[in-house]
Amino acid sequence: MGVWTTRTSGVRASSPEALRSRLDRLLAEARKNEFKMRRFQALELTLFGLDSVHKLLSALLYPDRSQFDWDIVSLVLIDKQYELRRILEGNDDILQHPNLSFVDDDSVLRSLYPPLALTPIIGVYKPKVYCQLFSGVTKKPASVMLLPLIRQGKLIGSLNIGSADAQRFARGYHTDFMKHLAAVVSICIENAMNMERIKLLGLTDTLTGANNRRYFDQRLEEEIQLSRRNHQSLACVMLDADHFKRINDHYGHQTGDIVLKQIAQLARAELRSSDVLARYGGEEFVTLLPQTDISVAVEVSERIRRSVARQTFTSIDGQVFRLTLSAGVAATSHLPGGSIHGEDLVACADKALYEAKARGRNRIASA
Ligand code: GH3
Ligand code: MG
Ligand code: MG
Repeated sequence: MGVWTTRTSGVRASSPEALRSRLDRLLAEARKNEFKMRRFQALELTLFGLDSVHKLLSALLYPDRSQFDWDIVSLVLIDKQYELRRILEGNDDILQHPNLSFVDDDSVLRSLYPPLALTPIIGVYKPKVYCQLFSGVTKKPASVMLLPLIRQGKLIGSLNIGSADAQRFARGYHTDFMKHLAAVVSICIENAMNMERIKLLGLTDTLTGANNRRYFDQRLEEEIQLSRRNHQSLACVMLDADHFKRINDHYGHQTGDIVLKQIAQLARAELRSSDVLARYGGEEFVTLLPQTDISVAVEVSERIRRSVARQTFTSIDGQVFRLTLSAGVAATSHLPGGSIHGEDLVACADKALYEAKARGRNRIASA
C-alpha cells in the first residue's frame, strides 16, 4: 500500500487507523453541515410561509431556541416614511421589542456596510461602532455577525446576531448559510410589506388615509357583536364638514382635497388606536368607539370639533381660512333594548348630525 497524503493538511496519513480517524472527522463535519443546512432550510421555509409583517418579525425576534442557539438576534430596519411602524400600529409586542429598532435614515447602516461590499461583518463586538444595532439589548454580545438586508440593490436594514462567546463569530466562520438567510429575510420583508400595502389599499381611502366605507361596514358588524357579548357600549360618531361646498367653490377642488386630508388627521389625533375612523362619503367621516358610552363619545367629538375649528387651513394659492364641522353621536347603551343592528346605530348618529346642522352647525348633537 502506498503512502497517503491529504491535500488539505499535507499531513501524512500513513496508517489505515489515521486514515479512518480522518475520514470519521470529515464525515462528522459533513453530518454537522447537513444538520445545519436542514435547520436553515426549515427556518427559511417558515419565513416564506408567513403572510404579515407582524408574523415575520415575531419569527425573527422570538426565534425557536431549540433550532438555533444564537444568544441575541436584533433587527434594525430603515423606515423613512414610517410605513412599517404604521403597519405594525397596535402590535406592541413587536413595536416595543428591545431588539427591534427603526431608523429614519440609512446613514448609520451605510457607514457600517461599505457601499459596494455589502458582505456580512464578523468579529468581536465593538461597542462604539455597533451600539446602535443592539441599542435595546441589555447584555451586549461578545462577538457578532451582522448581515445587511438588501432589496433591489437598496439597503433596507440589518439583521444582527450576537453571541456571548467571543470566539463564536470570528474570522473563518462560514457565512454562506447566513448570507442566504439574509437574502431570504430581505425578500420576505418586501413581500410582507407588499401584501400589507394591498390589504391597506383595499380597506383605505386613498385621499385621506382613513379607512374606507367597506372596512367600516365590516368593522361595524364585528364591533356590534363584541359590544353585545361584553355588555359594553359602542359609540358611533358622524362628522360632516360645514359648508364644504363653499370651500371648493372659493379655493378650488384641490384645496378641498387637502382640507379633507387634514380633517382626517386632526380627528385621528383625538382617537385611541383601537377606535375606527373611516371616510363615509365625500366630506363625511364616521368613527366607531368601542367600550364608550354616549357622554364620553360627546367629549371626544367635542375635542375633534374644537381641534378643527382652531386650525387654520391654507389654500394652494396661499390664502388662509378656517372651517368648522358638526357631529352626531349615538351609542348602543342609549338605544332601545333588544338586538341593535349596526345600521340602526349609524342611522341614529346620522339623525343627530342632521340636528346639529339644523341648530346652526359647528356643534355636536347626540341621539
Ligand atoms: P353642510 O354644512 O350642510 O354639510 O354643507 P356642505 O356644503 O358641506 O354639504 P353639501 O352636501 O351641500 O356639499 C358637500 C360638498 O363636498 C360638495 C362636494 O363637491 C364636496 N366634496 C365631496 N367629496 C369631495 C372630495 O373628495 N373632494 C373635494 N374637494 N370635495 C368634495
Ligand atoms: Mg358638509
Ligand atoms: Mg355631507
